[in-house]
Amino acid sequence: MTEKKVENPFRTLAQPAREAPPDPGLVAPRTEQDALREELERGVLFTTVESMVNWSRANSIWPLGFGLACCAIEMMATLGPGYDLSRFGAEVMRPSPRQADLMIVAGRVSLKMAPVVRLLYDQMPDPKWVIAMGACASCGGVFNNYAIVQGVDKIVPVDVYVPGCPPRPEALIHGIMKLQEKILSSRIELGPAPRARRKQGAA
Ligand code: SF4
Repeated sequence: MTEKKVENPFRTLAQPAREAPPDPGLVAPRTEQDALREELERGVLFTTVESMVNWSRANSIWPLGFGLACCAIEMMATLGPGYDLSRFGAEVMRPSPRQADLMIVAGRVSLKMAPVVRLLYDQMPDPKWVIAMGACASCGGVFNNYAIVQGVDKIVPVDVYVPGCPPRPEALIHGIMKLQEKILSSRIELGPAPRARRKQGAA
């Protein structure tokens, strides 16, 4: 599967042609960063509302702070100084679903817990995303029995699956980076969400 390239959300104006330097061999090639820096120095930056909104959403993810089983220990390690999830803007764990936009389902979901997970999801404001962390959350894992939901996607829509038992913190960080790519390439809807979608709790 080919990786989808995420483009820089900023677009700069085309620059007028420059005079050729006297000796090209002595001048470093002009990079995209050079062009962006020059544009910023002029104080003018062009982009779209969609790019700005997606950029800000992707880099300020607030996960819901809860865990269900052993995978949650790895999720907690992701927040520590060793892995430092704050480098990706996603370290602000919120204790209330009303302040969170990412649900990381870390651990197996029992049938008894399933309605609670769905209620938490419904209480999160739109837009919201879900990561299924580990084999148990993704497909039930080794617990192929009557007590465990065989994949949390049976009760909430999942955006990214992180494999492993348990996945290491690097794997969860990779999953969050994949989610950021997905957010950056998504279409935004301005204005209030349609009533029917709000009732379903869809993102
Ligand atoms: S995937 Fe493995 S580590 Fe994670 S909750 Fe299941 S048994 Fe525990």
